[in-house]
Amino acid sequence: MRYSDEIIDEVRQTNDIVDIVSQYVHLKRSGRNFFGLCPFHNEKSPSFSVSPDKQIFHCFGCGVGGNVFTFLSKIEGISFIEAVQSLAERANIQLPTLQNSQDTYKEELKAKVYKVNEFTAQFYHENLYKPEAKLAQEYIKKRKLTNNTLKAFRIGFSGKFDELYNALKKQGFEEKEILESGLVNRNDNGKYIDRYRNRLMFPICDARGRVIAFGGRVLDDSKPKYINSPENIVYSKGRNLFGLNVAKKGDTKKILVVEGYMDVISLHQRGITNVVAPLRNSFNTTARLVIKKKFRTNYIKF
Ligand SMILES: [Zn+2]
Repeated sequence: MRYSDEIIDEVRQTNDIVDIVSQYVHLKRSGRNFFGLCPFHNEKSPSFSVSPDKQIFHCFGCGVGGNVFTFLSKIEGISFIEAVQSLAERANIQLPTLQNSQDTYKEELKAKVYKVNEFTAQFYHENLYKPEAKLAQEYIKKRKLTNNTLKAFRIGFSGKFDELYNALKKQGFEEKEILESGLVNRNDNGKYIDRYRNRLMFPICDARGRVIAFGGRVLDDSKPKYINSPENIVYSKGRNLFGLNVAKKGDTKKILVVEGYMDVISLHQRGITNVVAPLRNSFNTTARLVIKKKFRTNYIKF
């Protein structure tokens, strides 16, 4: 089942494409159309056009195009249905209940993965205060992190072989949900092994504060120094930044983009809270848009 064409049309007609695109792209009028720099490819001169008459967009550079739903789903990385829902909400249009079994299944799995992550953040954080976490505690002491900081960022410690897996099972989570979170892998012998072992753990949250992934730092000289959660149903590296949920733009009205978790955390501890860090090496267009959209401000990259 899907929404009827009538209601989809109503949502489209009440959301002007120029208004929606303008929230992401600086548009200038030229004749009947509007032009701006394409958010879907890198360019110096504007080849991205929006037609208010036809209510469509088209990029002459990369060929991307479509209507207001296509635009929103592409730029936000959401499904067509989610774009319809988001724009309906914006226009105060009440949508009928949707009962597509596949969508429902996906939404339920997502909700479970958030719960797995939330439980895990707490589990790792409590571990940090146990005697087994000695190396982690020494590292924290060396970096002079206060207890308030540890609590605010829910810094944690991941323990042995399948400790987390067992704790999640005990909590009633199912294999499917646990594996989808990327926190546990199954090896060729069918054994479940925690992804993070003996690492200092940093929960990564989305803008709404939900735990979507983790970063783990080694406590000895082994490599790699940091590992991260794989992308999954709730986590996309390019669309999220570390510290997004706690960053505040403050008086300077600027957001600072720093290199890693520890930079964000140490700056927060010094009272500098307008900081975020990208979750993959390149600070890409989407990450820039996320900052602009959330904070409606500029950023400075370090
Ligand atoms: Zn383009």
